[in-house]
Amino acid sequence: MKKGFTKSTVLLETENGNKYLFDRKLKKTIICHLLLYYLCQLKENGKNPEEWMTRLSDGQNQVGDIGIYTKQEIEYYYKKYQFLENSGFFAALTQEEIITGKVTEEIIKQTLANLKQITFEITENCNLHCQYCGYGKFYNNYDSRTEKGLDINTAKKVIDYAKGFLESPYNTSRENNTYIGFYGGEPLLNFPFVREMISYVNTQQWSHNFFSFSMTTNGLLLEKHMDFLAANDVSLLVSLDGDEANNAYRTFKNGASSFDRIIWNIERLKNKYPDYFKERVNFNAVLHNKNSVSDIYRFFQERFGKRPGIGALNTSGIRKEKTDEFWKTYSNINESLFNSEDYSKIEKELFINLPNIQDISTFIHSANDNCFTDYRELLRGSLKTQRMPTGTCLPFSKKLFLTVKGKILACERIGQSFPLGQADNTGVQIDFKQIAQQYNRWLTQMKNQCESCYHYEQCTQCIYYLDIGANKPICHNPLNRKEYSNYVSSIMNKLENSRGLYNRVIKEVVLE
Ligand code: SF4
Ligand code: SF4
Repeated sequence: MKKGFTKSTVLLETENGNKYLFDRKLKKTIICHLLLYYLCQLKENGKNPEEWMTRLSDGQNQVGDIGIYTKQEIEYYYKKYQFLENSGFFAALTQEEIITGKVTEEIIKQTLANLKQITFEITENCNLHCQYCGYGKFYNNYDSRTEKGLDINTAKKVIDYAKGFLESPYNTSRENNTYIGFYGGEPLLNFPFVREMISYVNTQQWSHNFFSFSMTTNGLLLEKHMDFLAANDVSLLVSLDGDEANNAYRTFKNGASSFDRIIWNIERLKNKYPDYFKERVNFNAVLHNKNSVSDIYRFFQERFGKRPGIGALNTSGIRKEKTDEFWKTYSNINESLFNSEDYSKIEKELFINLPNIQDISTFIHSANDNCFTDYRELLRGSLKTQRMPTGTCLPFSKKLFLTVKGKILACERIGQSFPLGQADNTGVQIDFKQIAQQYNRWLTQMKNQCESCYHYEQCTQCIYYLDIGANKPICHNPLNRKEYSNYVSSIMNKLENSRGLYNRVIKEVVLE
């Protein structure tokens, strides 16, 4: 196939022996009769089905190793094959059809005006010393940490700046709900900031936006501040890795276990504010070599009746000298899940909190011509949507993250070397033109790789996790036709073997 072209249709077979055609351009999946699949395979292997049919006898014909068929039967399926071909299956996808999108100043302004979340890193200080911390010994892609807190006036300037966009005609959101997130370090160590920011946002005049508050906390100061948090309906995400043994990496600076103190705080909160606890308090556990998906699920289910989120250790920005220790600590979520005795039950319960279900959901939504992220996409038509290289989010489409040092970043999960802007107590500087140029430079560097990769529609690769500091960032996970067919096959296997999974994804998973 010519460089820059890929085939729209892939053929695949599942473990149950079912054969499918999946067309990436039409976003259609068809289960196939063996004969139809055989004809498609002929074409796939560079043979001419018509020429093959001239050699058929009028009686019975052995077709490959799939069975004996009459000429009439074969002709019937050949007509089906022709119908598919005339309907756009088996076409070549050109570079232009695939990846033509560019980031523009206008697009960035629009995403900022429809901002869903502003997260403030309100302190670099922490009362724990977790051994796998993203700002700790394993990583080298963050700014040096102090015990500083974020200046409230700088944060207010960011709110004022965002307000100008949120209240502009660029805002086309239906919900107009924006989350204000508090992040650290441990955010409750800078409680005056939380109190003042909530008051500031609530006392502003907003023409159509409304706000909710959220916080990621290690739980050590929960008891002290729970009255305020419950009164202001702040959604809490408490970081805890399971029971005491599972929690062994979440220690105080002196190495002592933090588990009992955290549990005591959580129990107090639960007893005093049971409804708030039920509605607004959730847990997130980090998976590593001292816990497992099964341990985490059981602990939170039995102790608090909650379904925790589970995250893996961040694999980017690892210090060279710490690589061995890091990989000894790391544990893969899918592997840990598959090794659980009660695998099916856990998968059903944790559902979209698990990466394998997230993968299936990504596939179903992107490979289905009836799924749209919003009305604009529905009206424009999904087939006309331009794509950019990689699966990275657009600047501000997920959130605006402000660090203690005033750097504005795309989110808190990326390194801090490439800010989108800067804020201080006099104002906010965001150069939209420069951001657009920077993204387009990175994306152009990836274009060739993504153009020949079959995975691009489902790609979730963040640009910041590629080596963008280098002149030639390289993706280590592109999929060729065969690998992509195996990938789609693994999704179809799962859907065939899990009754109701497809329906559940369609009904319960909301596209963002
Ligand atoms: S997997 Fe890699 S090569 Fe493929 S589309 Fe994503 S970033 Fe590009
Ligand atoms: S990790 Fe990357 S793609 Fe994901 S939200 Fe952050 S910046 Fe966007």
